[in-house]
Amino acid sequence: MNRAYNFNAGPSALPLPVLQKAQAELVDFRGTGMSIMEMSHRGKDYEAVHNEAVSLLRELMAIPADYDILFLQGGASLQFAMVPMNFLPSGRKAGYILTGSWAEKAYAEAKQFGEVFEAAGTKSENYRRVPAAGDLSYAPDSAYIHLTSNNTIFGTEWHAFPDTGAVPLIADMSSDILARPVEVSKFALIYAGAQKNLGPAGVTVAIVRRGLLEQANAGVPTMLRYATHAKDNSLYNTPPTFGIYLVGLVLAWIKEQGGVDAIHKRNKDKAGLIYDAIDKSGGFYRGHAQQDSRSLMNITFRLGSEDLEKKFLDEAKKAGFVGLAGHRSVGGCRASAYNAVPVEACRALAQFMIDFQKSNG
Ligand code: PMP
Repeated sequence: MNRAYNFNAGPSALPLPVLQKAQAELVDFRGTGMSIMEMSHRGKDYEAVHNEAVSLLRELMAIPADYDILFLQGGASLQFAMVPMNFLPSGRKAGYILTGSWAEKAYAEAKQFGEVFEAAGTKSENYRRVPAAGDLSYAPDSAYIHLTSNNTIFGTEWHAFPDTGAVPLIADMSSDILARPVEVSKFALIYAGAQKNLGPAGVTVAIVRRGLLEQANAGVPTMLRYATHAKDNSLYNTPPTFGIYLVGLVLAWIKEQGGVDAIHKRNKDKAGLIYDAIDKSGGFYRGHAQQDSRSLMNITFRLGSEDLEKKFLDEAKKAGFVGLAGHRSVGGCRASAYNAVPVEACRALAQFMIDFQKSNG
């Protein structure tokens, strides 16, 4: 079997045992004589898969009982609209923490629905860090504060979340959900597109405090109301059944690995191998993120010139490494070491970086 060293930023690597299980069950799902894609979302076989995914996520993230877990569609990008449509009432303002392109997109989208303000931001520093938890400025009657827990493009991550007291804190965790333990009760709403740490593209997870749902704006279209999906256990209409099934398999895999604490430890080891290659290179590789804001998921770095970066990326590709080019908006290099990327891939990349420096330094 030829599995690539997959450092794609998303969609990205899935655990091999998950793919193998899905393959084995594809044509005849657990003796039903059909695939999971071919059966009713109202039948007991699918229902068991659906409820298992919900309960595994609740268990792995220790999600308190007063939060609903939703499987939605439209990607994290639709959440950029659904959040203000539901939770930004007229006459109030919502604060956005601007730490990168996705945060900026969420902010720009919310402007279409109501009044927003920048609660903090690091654009003037080319998004090299996230703000300190105490650096936010907002009025106590703000509708909510929105942040991006991991900035996929710039490679920064919050390591201590701000405490916003009575103001609901809403987080886009698309690129680091389940990568480390998070205290869910600090957030009123967490959302994440599945295609990095959770499963395939096409499913979006939302974890929402019931108290927030009760304050939602009236007049939101049915499908764009969180309450619609909460009331019907994400079965108001046909959910993305195959995607949810795969999310369930990924969650079961995480549990088998020892849960989020074990995954977190492995993620630190993995990212550490690559950051070490950067830090010990004497400036041959330069990390983009400030050290205390470094992401465990997306490791962004530059080489001395664009020509050298091109050579690095070309040779890496020949050596079997996939997905190392930085986002098209910023250039440079980026290694995305999501949960399913094995330690061996990170070790191989670190060694490749050391060897490339020896021949080009
Ligand atoms: N937020 C973050 C942090 C992301 O990394 C991405 C996708 N890379 C998005 C939002 C957009 O997600 P989607 O493509 O699911 O709309």
